[in-house]
Amino acid sequence: MTNNAKIAEIFDSIQGEGPYIGYRQLFIRFCGCNLLCDYCDTEFNNGDLYSVETLLNEVKKYNLEAIHSVSLTGGEPLIQYEFLKEFLPELKKLGVKVYLETNGTLSKALADVIQYVDIISMDFKLDSCAKIGDLYNKHDVFLEQASKAGVETFAKLVFDETIKDFEINECIKLAQKYDIAVILQPKMDGNTIKVSHDKIMETFNCFSEKYHKTRLIGQVHKFFDIR
Ligand code: SF4
Repeated sequence: MTNNAKIAEIFDSIQGEGPYIGYRQLFIRFCGCNLLCDYCDTEFNNGDLYSVETLLNEVKKYNLEAIHSVSLTGGEPLIQYEFLKEFLPELKKLGVKVYLETNGTLSKALADVIQYVDIISMDFKLDSCAKIGDLYNKHDVFLEQASKAGVETFAKLVFDETIKDFEINECIKLAQKYDIAVILQPKMDGNTIKVSHDKIMETFNCFSEKYHKTRLIGQVHKFFDIR
C-alpha cells in the first residue's frame, strides 16, 4: 500500500448537525477542498500525511464500541478518493459505520467508494450564501449515484437573508426526485446565528409547505462549544 492522505485532525466528538445530531462519532478531517465557500469556517489546509496502515492504527486507539460511526469530513474527503479506495475496505473490517460528509459535487469519486459508505450527509450549495455559482447539475448527478447504490442520504443547506425563490425550488426539485430529507441550517459566524428570526421562519415555511421532508436544525455543537 503506497497511498497517503493528508489529514488535518482526528478526534472523538459529537455530531452537531443534521438528523444524527447528538451521536458520538470519530471524526477524520481530510485536508483540501474543491470549493471555496464564502461562509467556510473550517481549518483544513494544514495536516499530516498518513498511510492506510498508520491511519488504521490511529483509529484503533479509540473506543470504537462507543461511537455511532466514523465521520469522513473536511474539507472535502472525496478529493482523496484514491486513498479512500484503499482505506475504507480496511476500516469496514473494524465493524464501524462510515458517515460521509461531502459537498455533493464529486460524483466520479463517490462512485469509487460508495460501496463502503453507510450514510451520506451532503450539502446543497446555494450561490446566494456560498458565492460559488449554481451546482444543481452536479448535485443531481451525485444524488443519482447515491440513490442507485441505495445509500441513506440527506441534504443540508446553509442559507442566509439572501436566499432566492428559485434556489428553494431547485433544492426541493432535487429532494423530491431522490426522496431525501432537506435540513435547513441558518448561517452562523462562530456561535452567532447570522439570519434573522423572521427570515428563518419564512424560509422554513416556504420549504415545508412545498416539501414535507424539510427540517430546521441548527449547528448545535457551536452552542455547546465543542468541535
Ligand atoms: S465545501 Fe465545505 S469545506 Fe469546502 S469550502 Fe465549502 S464549506 Fe468549506
